Amino acid sequence: MTTTYPPEPFRIKVTEPIRLIPREEREAALKEAGYNLFSLKAEDIFIDLLTDSGTGAMSSEQWAAIMRGDESYAGARSFYRLKAAVDDIFGFKYFVPAHQGRAAENILAACLVKPGNYIPSNMHFDTTDANIRARGGRPTNLVIDEAFDPANPHPFKGNMDIAKLKAFIEKVGVANIPFGMMTVTNNAGGGQPVSMENLKAVAAVYRESKIPFFIDAARYAENCFFIKQREPGYESKSVKNIAHEMFALADGMTMSAKKDAIVNIGGLLCLNDEVLFGQVKNELILREGFPTYGGLAGRDLDAMAVGLYEGLDENYLFYRLGQTAYLAARLNETGIPTIQPAGGHAVYIDARAVLPRIPQNEFPAQALCVELYREGAIRGVEIGSVMFAYPDPDSGKMIYPKLELLRLAIPRRMYTQSHMDYVADCAAKIKSRADKVRGYKFTYAPELLRHFTARFEPL
Ligand SMILES: *Cc1c(COP(=O)(O)O)cnc(C)c1O
Repeated sequence: MTTTYPPEPFRIKVTEPIRLIPREEREAALKEAGYNLFSLKAEDIFIDLLTDSGTGAMSSEQWAAIMRGDESYAGARSFYRLKAAVDDIFGFKYFVPAHQGRAAENILAACLVKPGNYIPSNMHFDTTDANIRARGGRPTNLVIDEAFDPANPHPFKGNMDIAKLKAFIEKVGVANIPFGMMTVTNNAGGGQPVSMENLKAVAAVYRESKIPFFIDAARYAENCFFIKQREPGYESKSVKNIAHEMFALADGMTMSAKKDAIVNIGGLLCLNDEVLFGQVKNELILREGFPTYGGLAGRDLDAMAVGLYEGLDENYLFYRLGQTAYLAARLNETGIPTIQPAGGHAVYIDARAVLPRIPQNEFPAQALCVELYREGAIRGVEIGSVMFAYPDPDSGKMIYPKLELLRLAIPRRMYTQSHMDYVADCAAKIKSRADKVRGYKFTYAPELLRHFTARFEPL
């Protein structure tokens, strides 16, 4: 367990004020929001750990790059600067920018997914899952069983179960699988990494069956640093070389640049197949923009070109993964269990262990989420029954998820050690008055994606 905090490898040049509003105002804000933290105003939040997507702090070099942005419609200098970085880091033959990760996924799915097709992965992120389904496809998750055991300290809980993958391909048939994927790190599974050994085994299975292999690379740099820290034989390799080794296994990748490229908006789609690249460009022009800007401003391309390298910096990655591990360790010290080991970008609190008296049909993770805002104006996100419980289509009986989690996602380069300490201290205070915390019931809940707009009432 790491309780040492790696000093931030940057100093602060620009600040953005945040304000802790008084307890009565927090209470009023909660009531107004129907106890759903998605409905709060950002200005009423002190520490915002809702997501690490697009919320990071850009560097002085990135802001300088913004000023160099070339807004030419076609063939902008900004595109060629981004191309140089993308070619150097990922090494695919072709690429297009897109406005974010899901846009890249949409284009890939539009080109390749036919109704009834299957797309295997360790675990699809929800936008990938939805883009495959939107084309009539069936996303399939084949992660190892250890991923579902929160206390299991397996170092690569994002790994694909190779036996399951082989059996799956056998069962549905190669002809029904237009491509296969791997998500690094596995966001939906707690930000857990995939080992190089596992990636090689997955690539070999796909290659043998002639199934093109695409990596969802949103947090590839964090994954590569985990490989350097945890996988024998990689200790002395550079993260950039580990990334080269990873992407050489694949036929293409999608990426949300809002994660490891540390920009506020942007995405990438890279690939090796020339025919597919032609289709991709046509889809891109239809949906996003000309292939040299892909729905972004020239300045956004320049910020991404710089951010891609900053996201690979090993001093930064040491601090980044250390900060997440530090928050998890601080919480664990006060008896608050989290998914083990800590993920790259987020800490997941086991809400039922903190609030054991609240049954699942009264939303313990939602209650903990509300309590963390009430205590310290901190915003996390519920990943439990509000998000995932659904009625069985045959019996109508509610089916509840295995875990009730509160996710605290950490924006890149934004918060300091004292902010992390503050979060852990607030969580500890809630634990000490846990028997007084009550559950919630819906006063409004839409049928789909209800966590975004639902409203609640305390019981
Ligand atoms: C965020 C994310 C996406 C989607 O990217 P957006 O930029 O939010 O559209 C896809 N995959 C993973 C693993 C992600 O974390």
